[in-house]
Amino acid sequence: MEKQIVEGQMQSRVVLMPCSSYEEEAVYQALKAGTELLGGMEALAGREEKVLLKPNLVRKAKLSRAVVTHPAVMGAAARLLREAGVKEIMAGDSCGVGQATAAAAAVGMDAVLEKYGVSLVDFTGTGSVAYEDGLQARSFFVSKEVLEADVLINVCKMKTHALERITGAVKNMYGCIHGLHKAKGHTAYPNADSFAGMLADLNRFLKPRLHIMDGIVAMEGNGPTSGDPVPMNVLLMSRDPVALDSVFCRLINLKPELVPTNVHGERLGLGFWREEQVELVLAEGGRSAEISMEEAAARFGKADFDVDRRRIRSGSWVRMARFFRIFQKKPCVDGEACVKCGICVESCPVEGKALSFSNGRKEPPVYDYKKCIRCFCCQEMCPHKAIKVR
Ligand code: SF4
Ligand code: SF4
Repeated sequence: MEKQIVEGQMQSRVVLMPCSSYEEEAVYQALKAGTELLGGMEALAGREEKVLLKPNLVRKAKLSRAVVTHPAVMGAAARLLREAGVKEIMAGDSCGVGQATAAAAAVGMDAVLEKYGVSLVDFTGTGSVAYEDGLQARSFFVSKEVLEADVLINVCKMKTHALERITGAVKNMYGCIHGLHKAKGHTAYPNADSFAGMLADLNRFLKPRLHIMDGIVAMEGNGPTSGDPVPMNVLLMSRDPVALDSVFCRLINLKPELVPTNVHGERLGLGFWREEQVELVLAEGGRSAEISMEEAAARFGKADFDVDRRRIRSGSWVRMARFFRIFQKKPCVDGEACVKCGICVESCPVEGKALSFSNGRKEPPVYDYKKCIRCFCCQEMCPHKAIKVR
């Protein structure tokens, strides 16, 4: 990641491009301006390098629900790579449920990528890969296609997340972990802090060269898959995923220090979230200029964005609350919305399952909160918005 020294301290640049529609040319022009302000695509990916675009394809969902990265953003990134002379471009993900190719086809991403000769792949398995420089995580089950790529470009979606408050650039890299190993990761890193530390190490290991955030229509509320779409009308770009996520936080009136991936991202040397260490540049109408966070929030933010802003408690009180599993957020099934499909039970990573059908499938699944590690995989994977975190 490229950082620059400004007035005696390290800074990362984030570019904000206002964009109020997914019209392909508008998205392309916005990303072109952003890329130029980050050194140009030619400097980010060599012609002979194999480039992998990593969208958020967490699962099959209608485009209007704002669950996945919009195809127009992927198409614009692919077009810029082609114009920079890059010969080999792939796109792929490891979904929580189902296959990336099916999730992409459901929103028309396959057709958009085909126009630019991008091969769409389902990530396949690999063995454990050691990461000796890991400070929180020393090995990962990274998918084969990710390891084979020379350049990784992260094309994430602006959304809320039950465990980490937001899912943006840092969290999107978790889709590079293969299949069921994603669920197992939740048992190895069973709380928001340890999971965030692992994510920071994963980003340090994978070193994506560029992060693009689709915030034209974001998701608020019960994210990352059951929330509500909300127009934010922006695209963000940076080479620093922490800085990019911190700007997302400022736009939604969420203190960046309340997001564990920011805190641990900074602690582990992945990037910066403090205002003085983020240079925010506005690219608008063919011009660019530095803009303060305050002005960006006033012009492009949504102060009442529905996200968890509660203070994080720490110390012995929290250890006690965790031990007795009290005052903690917990997933709850809405019996009226539940169709008893069982996907939540399948996605629970806890051995012996922390939720199950107690009466065949006549009733919705019930939780055993003593076993539940609050990873919220069940809430994330429920296709019917039937699980809420309270
Ligand atoms: S809560 Fe959701 S995932 Fe679980 S059985 Fe009901 S509809 Fe399916
Ligand atoms: S019940 Fe849900 S939140 Fe609890 S451990 Fe299982 S998947 Fe995670």
